[in-house]
Amino acid sequence: MKTLSETQRLWLYTLLSFAFAVAMRLVWIYHFDGYEPFYFNGQLMINTNDGYYFAEGARDILAGFHQPNDLSPTHEAMSLLTALFAKILPFSFETILLYMPILLSSLVVIPMMFIAKRLGNLEIGFGASLLAGIAWSYYNRTMAGYYDTDMLNIVLALFTLYYLIDAFMTRRKSALLGIALSIALYMWWYNASYALSFSLFGLIVLYTLFYERRNGYFYQLLSMMMIGLIGVPIVLKLILIAALFVLFTQERFERYWLYLLGACIVIFMATGGLDPITLRLKGYVFKEAIESSGAMGLHFFSVMQTVREAGSIPFETFANRISGHTATFILSLIGYGYLVYRHRVMLLMLPLVGLGFIAMNSGLRFTIYAVVPLAFGFAFLIHEIVRFIEKRVFRALAATLLYAMALYPNITHIDSYRVPTVFNADEVRLLDRLKDKADREDYVVAWWDYGYPIRYYTDMKTLIDGGKHSGSVNFAVSYMLTHPQEVSAKLARLDVEFTERAFEKSETRTNIEAMSEAYGLSDANDFLTLLRTDMELPQKSRDVYLYLPYRMLEIYPTVASFSNLDLMSGEQKKQPFYFISRNARENGSLIELGGGVAIERATMSIRVGDQSVKMRRFAKTSYDNEMRLHKDVELIDFRGALNVIYMQNYDTFLVLDEATYNSLYVQLMVLEEYDPNLFEMVLANPHAKIYRLRI
Ligand code: MG
Repeated sequence: MKTLSETQRLWLYTLLSFAFAVAMRLVWIYHFDGYEPFYFNGQLMINTNDGYYFAEGARDILAGFHQPNDLSPTHEAMSLLTALFAKILPFSFETILLYMPILLSSLVVIPMMFIAKRLGNLEIGFGASLLAGIAWSYYNRTMAGYYDTDMLNIVLALFTLYYLIDAFMTRRKSALLGIALSIALYMWWYNASYALSFSLFGLIVLYTLFYERRNGYFYQLLSMMMIGLIGVPIVLKLILIAALFVLFTQERFERYWLYLLGACIVIFMATGGLDPITLRLKGYVFKEAIESSGAMGLHFFSVMQTVREAGSIPFETFANRISGHTATFILSLIGYGYLVYRHRVMLLMLPLVGLGFIAMNSGLRFTIYAVVPLAFGFAFLIHEIVRFIEKRVFRALAATLLYAMALYPNITHIDSYRVPTVFNADEVRLLDRLKDKADREDYVVAWWDYGYPIRYYTDMKTLIDGGKHSGSVNFAVSYMLTHPQEVSAKLARLDVEFTERAFEKSETRTNIEAMSEAYGLSDANDFLTLLRTDMELPQKSRDVYLYLPYRMLEIYPTVASFSNLDLMSGEQKKQPFYFISRNARENGSLIELGGGVAIERATMSIRVGDQSVKMRRFAKTSYDNEMRLHKDVELIDFRGALNVIYMQNYDTFLVLDEATYNSLYVQLMVLEEYDPNLFEMVLANPHAKIYRLRI
C-alpha cells in the first residue's frame, strides 16, 4: 500500500467498505428472490410500514396532483428525493424504494473515512467503516426495503461531526459552511434530528466558554449552527447560511462577529429555535395512559401503552445491537475511551454514544446512534494492539483476524434476519383492485397499522394511520371494528363525514365530541347509545369501504382496548374474552388449545383454567378451491358464554365471548356474515375482505 498516495488510499478504503456494506444488504433480496408472496409489480415490496407514507408522497409528486386533506406528504424531503430518483433513473418506482436504503445508508463510510483522515489514521477509518456499515442495529434499520428516514440519519449526523472535527482541527472557514449545511439538510430530512444537533451546539457553547472565549472563529461556528437549527423553510435557511458565510469570509467584516452572533441569536429565538425543547418538556407532563381532552373532558386510551418498542432492553441485546457481540461491545467501549484520550476531538461523538445509551431505557431504535463511535473505538483498539507486532505481514494478519471475529456475528445476524414485507401479495392485490373500483376521495376504514400501505396502494383516504393514531381518533375505528355491524355502520358513516367536515372547518374538537353536540348531546355515552336507535345520518358525500385483513386477528385485543373504556369517566371496562390458538392438540377427550384453554368434546364445553364454561356456538370455516368461504355454525347451548370458531385452512381456533363474536370484524372477516342492507362485499380472499358501506 506504500505506493498509493493518501488520497488514493482514502478512496480505495471508501470504495471497498461501501461495496461491502452494499453487498451485505443484498443478502435479504437474494433470500427472497422470486418468493411470490413478497412481490408486487414485479419487485419485492418494502418491509417498513412508515415507508409507505413517504412512498405515497413521492407517488403524488410524480403524478403532479393529490386530493385535499388526504395527508399525502408531498413536502417531505424523503418523498422529494425519491421522486427525483424515480424521474431520472431508469428503474421502476418499487425498485427505487427497495434499493434506496441499501445505497444511501452505505454512504455512511464516506464521512467516516473523512474523519479518519483528519485523525491521520486511514486504517482505523477502514476497519470502523467495515464494522459500522453492517453492524446489527444499523443493518436492521437500513436494510433492503427498510425505506425510512433512517437511511440517511446517521450519514447526515456524521457529516455534521466530520465538519465539526474539521473546524476544531483546521479552523477552516469552509468547515463552517459544511456544518451549517449538514445541520440544515439533516433537519430538513428528519425533523427530530434537532435534538442531536442541538446537543452538539450545547457542547460547543460550553467548550467555547471554557477554552476559546476570545476566539472569534468559535463564535462564527456557533452562529452558523444556530442558523442551521432554526425552524424556517429550507430555501430561506440556505439563503441565510450562504449570506452569513459570505460575511464570515470577508476580512472587513471580521471584527463584527459579535454583532453577527447577536443577530443570529435574535433570529434563532424569533423563529422558534427553542420551541422543540419547550414542546418536549410539555410532552413529558402529558405522558399518561388515558388522555383527557376537550370541553366535554372525554377520556381516551393512549397509544403509548401499546407501542412495543418503548421499554427497556436487556444488556446483551443492547450490546449486540450496537456491536454484534457483548465482547466486541466492551472492547469498543474501552477503545472509544482510549481514542478520546488520544484524540480529544472525538469527544464530539459523545452525544451519539449518549443517544445510543438512551436505548437501555427507551427502546431499541436508539442503538443505531452509538454504532459509529464505538466502531471507531474498536478499530482504534485493534490498531493500538497490533502496533506492537513488528513484522508487517503478521500485523496485517492479526488485524484481519480480529476484524473477522468482530464482523462474524453481524454477518450471521444478517443472514438470519429474514423479516417479511409489510403486506403480502394477496393483500396488495385486493387493494390494487379496489383502487380501480373506488374513487380517490372515498375512505377506507381500517386499523391504523394498515393506514399508510392502504393509502399507497389505493390512493384513497383513511381515518387513521401510522402518524395519526391518538386515542381520540383510534376510538371510533376501534369501536366500529369491535361492535355489532348496525352501530358500526352508522358510526363509520358519521366518522367519515365528520372527519371531512373537521378539515373544512379546521375543527379542534374530537369527532366524538362534535358528533355528540351535533345531536344535541352533552354526554358521549348518550351518543353511543343513540347509535343503536333509528337515528338520522348526515348526507352521504362519498363511499366508505372497510378493509378487514386476516392478520388483524393477532392484534384484536389491542384494537379493542381503544374503545373499551367509558369516555366520560375514563374507566376501563372488562377485557373481552378473546383467545386464539394455532397449536391445538388432541388429548383424549380434550382438544387442548394451549394457555390452559381446552375444549371438552363429549360435553362441548370449554375449560378455562380449572373452570368449565358452556359453549354457545361452534363454527367451522373453510375455503374451497375457488377461495370461497364455507361455514357451518352450530348452536350448542344458547345459555353458553363462549363461542368457538375453527378456521380449518389456518388450523386456527378462536374462543370468543358473545360481544366479540358479534363484532363487525369477526362477523365480516371471519364468517362473512354481513347484513346486505348495510354492507356489500366488494373483494375477498383468505387474507383480507373488503366491504362497501351501503348507508
Ligand atoms: Mg391521495
